[in-house]
Amino acid sequence: MKVIRTVSEVQEWSATERSAGNTIGFVPTMGALHQGHAELFAQSVDENSRTVVSIFVNSLQFNSASDLEAYPRQLEQDKVIAEKQNVDVLFVPNHEEMYPNSFSSTISAGPIAAHMEGLHRPGHFDGVATVVVKLLNAVTPDIAYFGLKDFQQLAVIRTVVRDLNLKCHIIGVPTVRNESGLALSSRNSRLSPESLTQAPSVYAVLLEMATQARERETTTTALKAHFTSAMKPFSAAKIEYIEIVDSVTLHPVNTAKAGSTICVAVWFEDVRLIDNISI
Ligand code: AMP
Repeated sequence: MKVIRTVSEVQEWSATERSAGNTIGFVPTMGALHQGHAELFAQSVDENSRTVVSIFVNSLQFNSASDLEAYPRQLEQDKVIAEKQNVDVLFVPNHEEMYPNSFSSTISAGPIAAHMEGLHRPGHFDGVATVVVKLLNAVTPDIAYFGLKDFQQLAVIRTVVRDLNLKCHIIGVPTVRNESGLALSSRNSRLSPESLTQAPSVYAVLLEMATQARERETTTTALKAHFTSAMKPFSAAKIEYIEIVDSVTLHPVNTAKAGSTICVAVWFEDVRLIDNISI
């Protein structure tokens, strides 16, 4: 596996591969890799002749300096995971490579980023959109892979790629969970033992709500009340939001039915987890 640290070198590598007739799959990450990331790598390796993974902790998408500071960084472990999945190139730019002193242009993600994550993390999706466009222009992949765990992020990226005429297919990959149902996340390593036992309740309740909504159309108000009361026994949990949205437009809906998705953000002490389920 080749490690590349500059934009010009990865652009050159991609151009050479493409002129040799190879297709390029790309998975952007912030590192602290786990089986969820590995699933994206595996799909890319399966569907493309070459796979590039980037590791870059993007300061632009963090709202709090402490969250950025606490974000786990473990490059040597990450290299082992990527290599095991047969990733061809690990692109690991540093902050100066991505955001030199003179850096000035950013992307506004627009209305699709206005609620849920965007509302609670102002500027987050502008930061995500900016870094993803920069990475896509650096790697120039045919296909890029993103997790459905970050449901709104995927919608934002699809919108930006369409709006800005980027020539890249975007694929959403189902959420990978541990045996208790907890969605794998780099942030899970920061959960206290108590929170770790309580956090799987989020997906358990999402499953209950989805089952209910699949049996009969259920009002959004009823589902929100269900989530709030079902999470009550879990003392470490603090709900930040629960929204039911149209799975494509992400507009809030009044009744949950096929074609809608329930999205939640829940704090467990100082760790913020998000999850979702499509009906
Ligand atoms: P991150 O490193 O957290 O920015 O994630 C990089 C990519 O991996 C994003 O597209 C995430 O949505 C995806 N991802 C993270 N966790 C999971 C998971 N448990 N299952 C599937 N994809 C995931």
